[in-house]
This record gives sequence, structure tokens and C-alpha cells, in this order.
Amino acid sequence: MASTQSVDGNGRGSVRKVAAAALPEKQVIRVRAPLTGELLGEVPVLSAEQVQATVDRARAAQKAWAELSFAARGAKILGFRDALVDHAEELVELMARESGKPRQEGILHEVAIVADIATHLAKVSAGILAPEKRSSHFFPYSLAVVEYVPRGVVAVIGPWNFPLQLNLRDALAAVMAGNAVVVKPSEVTPLIMLRAKQIWDACGMPEDLLGVVTGFGPTGSALIDAGVDLVIFTGSVATGRKVAAACGERLIPCVMELGGKAPLIACADCDVERTAHAIVSGGFANSGQVCISVERVYAHSDIYEELVDRVSELANKLRFGDPVEDFADYGAITFPKQIEVAERLIADALGKGAELRAGGKRVQGVPNAFEPTVLANCDHSQLVMTEEIFGPIVPFMRVSSADEAIRLANDSHLGLNAYVFTEDPERGREIAGKIQAGSVMINDVLINAAIGETPFGGIKQSGFGRVRGPEGLRQMCHPKTVCYERFKMPRQHPLAFPYTERTYTFLLRALRSLYRKGGALERLRRWL
Ligand code: NAD
Repeated sequence: MASTQSVDGNGRGSVRKVAAAALPEKQVIRVRAPLTGELLGEVPVLSAEQVQATVDRARAAQKAWAELSFAARGAKILGFRDALVDHAEELVELMARESGKPRQEGILHEVAIVADIATHLAKVSAGILAPEKRSSHFFPYSLAVVEYVPRGVVAVIGPWNFPLQLNLRDALAAVMAGNAVVVKPSEVTPLIMLRAKQIWDACGMPEDLLGVVTGFGPTGSALIDAGVDLVIFTGSVATGRKVAAACGERLIPCVMELGGKAPLIACADCDVERTAHAIVSGGFANSGQVCISVERVYAHSDIYEELVDRVSELANKLRFGDPVEDFADYGAITFPKQIEVAERLIADALGKGAELRAGGKRVQGVPNAFEPTVLANCDHSQLVMTEEIFGPIVPFMRVSSADEAIRLANDSHLGLNAYVFTEDPERGREIAGKIQAGSVMINDVLINAAIGETPFGGIKQSGFGRVRGPEGLRQMCHPKTVCYERFKMPRQHPLAFPYTERTYTFLLRALRSLYRKGGALERLRRWL
């Protein structure tokens, strides 16, 4: 893998050609800064053989790693965390160049979250993955222990919007659970993960335990083909379908973290100022390139005008800048094709009666940056209310009741995050209960993805399986059941061969006496 490292040690993005220099042009990813077009690095497109070799090395490294205690694994992972934190500014600067994201977001959404994930996993994994005793009421003489056994090699296939956080979030959980991991970062932002890999190697982590394979879709495909034991995929619905189909073909378990279309319901009693600030940070952080961005607002008509006005005012105040040079509120659109999506959705909405209240176009003189955009008078005939935007647009629709807002919020093929703003906590919980989504936040936005204690993931076409929380960590293992006797049984089990009329009659009587209301099982239960 040494040949894939093309980032300078100082992370300032100057180009250092490595073995990849010998590759023909189409086998190289030329990584350019989205804001300036500056060439930041060249990364090889790995062949299926190179991917297979990386998986094989990871599998070999996993054996010794899985033998370590949780305490020993945790200590190593904390060492990696410390090294990342030591390199925080350099990593933030590289992300500012490669993704065009503001430095504050690089620190908070990427490095700090990864540092917290490592800290949390090191603390809780032993407890969450400890063997559990279970007793059987069907065969009361039998006891069982459920052990959480690492799966082997976990493949993490990641997107470009949080190129450090999302890849390391899943990689660290996989490794803490005793697996090896091979990460396939997005071809749009591969440099940051390669730099993280250099830091991993330099801080004394077993080198082959974490592999990084660079390339386009076929490299991700080759990773699934290379005999991995679990795939954690984060990306678009369209690619997710292909990845899930490939996993199905090979019967590999997979977790799908796909797109979102998060609705925000602003109730008549919401605190308008608070809601407006939340919409602005939830809609425009990372220029809206967040799977849980506020992608549509259903505002009660009592507060609709005031809320749209205030959000538009705040959106207009956001400052564009080159995040490498200054502390801008927003920088580049990382993947310039998203600008075409934004322009198409805005044109469609305006053509169908929406009103532009803020933004609506590229930043003047900067082709790959887009103004924070607010649209009013939207409805579900407009694509901006139904398709994933993944850009800095917040469309507003007026509603006359919470029930109408809930119906519209659920009128989507996606179901990742949702938001409710109300000053009545009970009403907030009631509305949250009726929304079809993996997570619902009341009076807050975005932060649930950073909470280590709770599962994160979607329903409908937003995916399946969970990351984070005990649910996510346990998914990195397969639960193995080991049964043993509570007390010594006769050598020949009384219900095994030979089958006789006597045992049949016994079973029939037992069935009737146990499985009836008020039957023996109900009485026995308290003893078992
Ligand atoms: P994408 O689907 O285009 O690519 C994701 C990854 O899949 C990339 O590394 C890509 O190279 C790889 N890939 C492409 N084809 C493949 C194939 N056939 N087999 C295996 N791998 C393949 O997604 P993107 O544009 O990078 O990311 C944006 C999308 O990700 C948005 O829809 C967003 O909502 C979603 N996302 C979801 C979450 C979540 O947690 N649910 C988080 C972030 C982003």
C-alpha cells in the first residue's frame, strides 16, 4: 500500500508522485482542490489483484489482533487517537483543500468526532461485547453463552462528504471488535484517508490491520469480491443497490447507510429564533452536503412568514471564503456535479411556483461554490421537496397542522433523520413517534450522528443495519451461541430416538398443559 500515498507529510497538498507515476493516466486519480483546481495529489487506481492482496494481508494481521484483550486493543486505539489529535491542524488543512470545507467543520465534524469515537469505543467495547449468559425455558436443563466473535475482515466503502469521520467511524468500531478492516475511500477525496493511514502506521498500529484501497467504483466492487466478511457501505441509494446486490450474490452481510431527505417540522408554538438558527446550521453546514441535512421544512402558517424571513436573513449573512486562507462559514461544493443538481432543482421549483428568498446561484467568480439558498412557497410537485438535494438549499412549505406536516414528512422514499421544533416536549415526542425515520431530534439538528451511545441509520431506501451505539458495535461481530448443561442429563435424551406412542402422548399432554392461558408454563416461568 505504500505506493498509494501521495500526500506530503505536512498535509499541505503538494504533489509527491510515488509508484503510481508509472501507471497509465486512466489508472490514476488526479485529486484537485474543488475551490482552486490546484492539483493536490495523484492516487493509483488499484487492480483487483492489489485489492485481494490487501485483504489477504489484513486477514493475516487480524488473527493476532483478535487474540488481544479489549484493554490492549483499546490502549492501541487511544494511541492512534492521540496521533490524530497531534496532527489535527494538518488534517484540517488537508480537508479544507481536498473537500473545501471550513476549518471549524474539519475540527468539529471530522477530527473531534473521530477522537471521541476512539475514546468511547476504548471504554465501552469490553462491556458491550462481553459474553452473555442466557437460559432456555424450552429445555430448562440447557444454559447458553452468547459470544460476540469478530467477523474477520470488514470492508468500509465511504463517500466524499465526511472523508475522515465516516471511514474511521466504521473502521475503528470494526477494529475495536477484533476485526481487520479495508477502507475504500471515495475517489473524490482519497487523500485524507491515505494521510490517516500514514499516521496509523507511524504510531505503532499493526500496519496490515488497516488497509486503504484507492480507486473508482470497480475498486469497491473488487473489495466485495475479495472475500471480505462484512461490508459497511455509506453512499448513494443508486450505488447502495449495486453493493447490496453484490453482497447478496456472495451472501456477505452488509450495512447500508444511504441518502436522506430530512424533514423539519416547525410547529405553531416553536421558538422561531431558535428554529431559524437550527435550520441554518442544519441546512448549510458543509454546504448542505450532509446525509442528515435539513432538506425540507414544513412550517405552520402561524409562524411561516416570520421563520422564512429570519432563515433568509441568516443565510444571507453566511460568509463565503477559501477555508485554507480564512475562517469562512462555507467554502466549496466538494463534488462539483452537486451544483448541477442544485441548479436543476432550483429551476424546477421556480418554474412550479416557488419563490427565491436567498441565494440561488454560484458564488460570483467562484465556479465551485454555491450560495446558501432559501426557497419559499414549495410543495411536493417540486423535485426539491422529494429528491435528495445534498447541497445548500432549504425549501419551505406552509402547512396548517402538525398532522399535515407528519403526512408530508412521511411522503418520501427516504427515512434517515427528521426534526421537530416545538416548545411542548410531550407534543414533540408524540410527533416524533409518528415520523418514519431512523432518528428524530426534537429542537436540535445533526448532532445525533455524533452520539456514541445510540444507533444511527435509516429505514426505507435510506438503508438498513446500524452504525454507532451497542447495535453498531455488535454488528461487527457474529453472535455465537455455546450451549451447555445446567445439570447432568441421562446418557440417552428421553425425547430422542426411539419415538414411541408413550413419548408422543407425553408431549401432547405437556403441550396442552403448558401452552394455555393459566397453564403450567406461566406458573413455571417465575422459577426459570
Ligand atoms: P456514491 O454512492 O457515489 O459512492 C460511495 C462509494 O461507493 C465511493 O467510494 C465509490 O467509489 C463507491 N462505489 C461506486 N460504485 C461502486 C460499486 N459498484 N461497488 C462498490 N463500491 C462502489 O456516493 P457519494 O456521492 O460518494 O456520497 C453521497 C451519498 O452518500 C449521498 O446520497 C448521501 O446521502 C450519502 N451519505 C449517507 C450517509 C449515511 O450515513 N446514511 C452519510 C454520508 C453520505
